[in-house]
Amino acid sequence: MKRTNYCGALNAAHIGTKQTVCGWVNSYRNHGGVLFIDVRDRSGLVQVVVGPENPFFELASSLRNEYVVEVSGEVKPRIEGAVNKNIPTGEIEISVENLKLLNTSVPLPFDVENSRAASEETRMKYRYLDLRNPVMVRNLTMRHKIAQAARRYLDEQGFLEVETPVLTRSTPEGARDYLVPSRIHHGQFYALPQSPQMFKQTLMASGIDRYFQLARCFRDEDLRADRQPEHTQIDMEMSFVTTNDIHEVVEGLMKEIFKTAGQTLQTPFAKLPYNEAMDLYGSDKPDLRYDLQIKNVSGIFGKTAFKVFADVLAAKGAIYAIRGEKGAALSRGQIDKLTELVKKNGAKGLVWLKIKDGKLESPTAKFFTEAEMRALQTETGAQEGDIVFVGSDANVRTCQTFMGALRKELVKNLTPKNNWAFVWITDFPLLEYIAEENRWDAAHNPFTAPHEDDLEKLETDPASVRSYQFDLVLNGNELASGSVRNCRRDVQERILALMKHSKEEASRRFGMLLNALQYGAPPHGGIGIGLDRVTALLCGEDSIREVIAFPKTTQAVCLLTESPNVVDEQQLKDLGIEISKQ
Ligand code: ASP
Repeated sequence: MKRTNYCGALNAAHIGTKQTVCGWVNSYRNHGGVLFIDVRDRSGLVQVVVGPENPFFELASSLRNEYVVEVSGEVKPRIEGAVNKNIPTGEIEISVENLKLLNTSVPLPFDVENSRAASEETRMKYRYLDLRNPVMVRNLTMRHKIAQAARRYLDEQGFLEVETPVLTRSTPEGARDYLVPSRIHHGQFYALPQSPQMFKQTLMASGIDRYFQLARCFRDEDLRADRQPEHTQIDMEMSFVTTNDIHEVVEGLMKEIFKTAGQTLQTPFAKLPYNEAMDLYGSDKPDLRYDLQIKNVSGIFGKTAFKVFADVLAAKGAIYAIRGEKGAALSRGQIDKLTELVKKNGAKGLVWLKIKDGKLESPTAKFFTEAEMRALQTETGAQEGDIVFVGSDANVRTCQTFMGALRKELVKNLTPKNNWAFVWITDFPLLEYIAEENRWDAAHNPFTAPHEDDLEKLETDPASVRSYQFDLVLNGNELASGSVRNCRRDVQERILALMKHSKEEASRRFGMLLNALQYGAPPHGGIGIGLDRVTALLCGEDSIREVIAFPKTTQAVCLLTESPNVVDEQQLKDLGIEISKQ
């Protein structure tokens, strides 16, 4: 008999019908001589019942967990008392009329239902079994739905899905390339794309007008928590657009994506220039579910007797303060931990004042006037029972950054005011100075256009040149990064020159794009949205590994296929490669 339905799709409406389901034995029990077997497929569970008189009783008794079966029978209501309102199929069961054993299973390294409690190593090694877990099925389903929603919406918006090569040459996105040696051209390599950046811009020069792709991006980054050597981007590029046009399309896309998860989003999203984000939150990816801000309190300490602050201000640095709600109760050890945290982020130390019984308590109190301490309290909005943390540094960005790290820690104790806080961070600087190499580098990617009002300062004051680069941040996560690009070859070459790429080198590395630009490339811009992260957030997962079918470990290893791995001597010979002994 052919399968008539998925296990999890059956319910009281099917009572009296004959059904055939196929799946895995999730559990079995013998209740007073009657066998109850839960059969599972990707849609859920259904209970099947085999009584002692049933000709299939013996076969049913031999079933063990994860055996594969085909079951046919009538859908019947469960007896009262056996009804389980927690599962969709909880009111019914299948009374077995036919049972086929399709395959057996050796004992599993973990229970499918509890696979997520197994060690990361075991889960990854047996990923095919881990993926039987209903939460993993839900995650993959969510990913699928998001991808379909994106395709549907972008198609409606006039985007063409175009595939770009995986064997290509390096496109800089700030990481190291994965290289693939060429057998036919000894000594030459393809690079796996860090993103399809140059291709998608070139497609704009081709007149494609609106491009998208669910693109795999390969980045050989240093090992960091929750990074994957390959990730998927909803990659887009559009012609004849401004920043706002790109934002509008992405906001519409996000609405559609969130709708698939039953979530309603308000648009337009908030916008925050980079400098303000740093000044108010100490981060270019602030979690705006919380109002807590860092406050520049340099003005309070103009005449300070505290040498640390006086020196910082003399060096044109900054002093920032932040309120720690109910922090007066923090122990010395807890404060030390927070001090360690800011030190890890570049601070030399952390000053604090507790507000207890109307008085200000602090080991550094003797250096401050009453007026300074009161002003700190007013500026940060601190109340009785709170603590105020004060940080200072000769480098304003450093100070903002470590205070931002502290804010990130402090908000963990606050209640978020909403579920989803989207914000566009705009006006990123175009370039950053690499002192060791005495050159400028792209703050994001080298193809971003400078702000038109700052174009004149490109060579005279590169640090102050704003760009049309933007990020989309959700709940403190960078979800997407995009920009309006250089559509003129001369501007692009000026930027590459600041980055100390000679004309020859520029045309060697970026020749395809530079050439395409000079043949009437239209003004264009685009964005790459992290599909893994959006999916993880919508699934309530902390790690993107939970929403990737076959991820790698934090050590960039695939335990399932055991890659990377050695290859045959002959393969190396064919490629003209010799492995040096370390
Ligand atoms: N190529 C960029 C990235 O991968 C995204 C973009 O600017 O479109 O981050």
